Amino acid sequence: MKIAFATSEAYPFAKTGGLADVSSALPAALARRGHDVRIIMPRYYAVDRERYGLRVVGGPLGVPLGGGEKWAAILESRHIPEVPVYFIEHEFYFGRDGLYDDGYSAYADNAERFIFFCRGVMQALKDIGFAPDIIHCNDWQTGLIPVYHKTLYRDDPFFNRGSTVMTVHNAGYQGVFPAENYRLTQLDPGLFTDNGLEFFNQMNFLKGGVLFADAVTTVSRKYADELSTPEFGYDLADVFQKVKGRFRGITNGVDYSSWNPETDPFIPARYSRKTTDGKRACREALQQTMGIDVDPAAVLAGTISRVTYQKGMDVLADALRPLLADENLQFVLLGQGDERILDRFGELKRLFPGRVGLFRGYDERLSHLIEAGLDIYLMPSRYEPCGLNQMYSMRYGTIPVVRATGGLDDTVIEWDDKSLRGNGFKFAELTEKALYEKIRYVIRCYHDTQSWKVLQRNAMEFSYSWSDASVEYERMYEVILLASRTRGESRAPGNDHSRGSRGKKRVKSNA
Ligand code: ADP
Repeated sequence: MKIAFATSEAYPFAKTGGLADVSSALPAALARRGHDVRIIMPRYYAVDRERYGLRVVGGPLGVPLGGGEKWAAILESRHIPEVPVYFIEHEFYFGRDGLYDDGYSAYADNAERFIFFCRGVMQALKDIGFAPDIIHCNDWQTGLIPVYHKTLYRDDPFFNRGSTVMTVHNAGYQGVFPAENYRLTQLDPGLFTDNGLEFFNQMNFLKGGVLFADAVTTVSRKYADELSTPEFGYDLADVFQKVKGRFRGITNGVDYSSWNPETDPFIPARYSRKTTDGKRACREALQQTMGIDVDPAAVLAGTISRVTYQKGMDVLADALRPLLADENLQFVLLGQGDERILDRFGELKRLFPGRVGLFRGYDERLSHLIEAGLDIYLMPSRYEPCGLNQMYSMRYGTIPVVRATGGLDDTVIEWDDKSLRGNGFKFAELTEKALYEKIRYVIRCYHDTQSWKVLQRNAMEFSYSWSDASVEYERMYEVILLASRTRGESRAPGNDHSRGSRGKKRVKSNA
């Protein structure tokens, strides 16, 4: 199959979160299964020309936008051996330091930037002559691609034997923008309705992608169920319900070639399930690096995270204060995001000298050392579509303590000290009290050295790789391709987008 994988970030070129990990590992796994896969993404400043051997392979590419046309270049990198990566280069839109924001606030022209990107992907595929069987789209930044595929490019012989997939990595970000941006899309105004891209009088990229794609996926089974509920669906619950016949969860895999303590180049000592001795050296190196006491008796907990409300970091900061007072606990955080929440961790560092380490920023190398050096990994997320670090942690013998939501609930099995089964710990309610009590319980378990070893072994045995997950994607691609080719055209079932009927009107400000 020929698969075009459209994304706004991919590791190692540009990364702000788990989407980047998925966007390089899944295409590589599909390529290893014999498919011809190409990644296509914007070329930000962060994408280093020399380091990744970028060369111009296409363009000048005309990208229709609003009443005119913008011009772009297409660059290619062969840095990922199995998968060519194409970059759409446009100095004004993407030649910036940040991907989506300047470090403080979102770029004011994000709607225009990603309308340009979506339209640019369609044009670039033609320019490089890659007629895909599947265009796999990821998150709101690519949400208009399925819409273009079903409308402006519907009768284009280059595309009309292909199908589209929309994967929702995080429905908390939908790409909701003022309605005046809609004219830049060149889409039929009749699609700007409640049955189409309109959302409380604004334009919603993700909604478009979900409604128009031939198949919709999200990154765990539990999150797929949750998205159909008002609490998690962020006003798109009815949209997810509407597409439920073609909507499913496929849990993200782990790239064990990057996340494996037996081979990890970023950690000072390697170890495995059979000999975990090296973990001690990693623990000490982590304590030194984070400037905390090299105390072998303390329980070392921590996390690597975007510091946001979604990740429950505010509640974690509150719960840590009494825990640090009551227990011989150390805590380290690597993260960036909400400065007010980060300041609360800064305050803990001041209150508990030698026991709290804080690194504000983004650091790939340190993230590996943290996975290897910790005893327990904390993920108190309010919601978590899949979550990767709980799975990385398990492979490093670091025990995850997670809120039972989304992919965390699917992948972590509660430890039972009677049957000696389980690979981590879960709690249901996100309150300071619940977190405090759970972590105290985990610390008690930690001190039962013999059974903790069994728990560590169980965790290290957990394995869910991209080669497992890619089989599920492959099956889904086959099913939708067969269905669309049997129909003789690739219109999404159950959706007559041309009708443009107006549903009930609700008024709501930007999400
Ligand atoms: P999300 O995509 O919601 O941020 P995931 O758990 O799916 O969460 O993926 C997060 C990824 O980003 C992991 O690979 C994690 O290690 C990485 N990460 C997050 N913050 C940082 C940071 N400050 N420095 C280095 N890596 C980070």
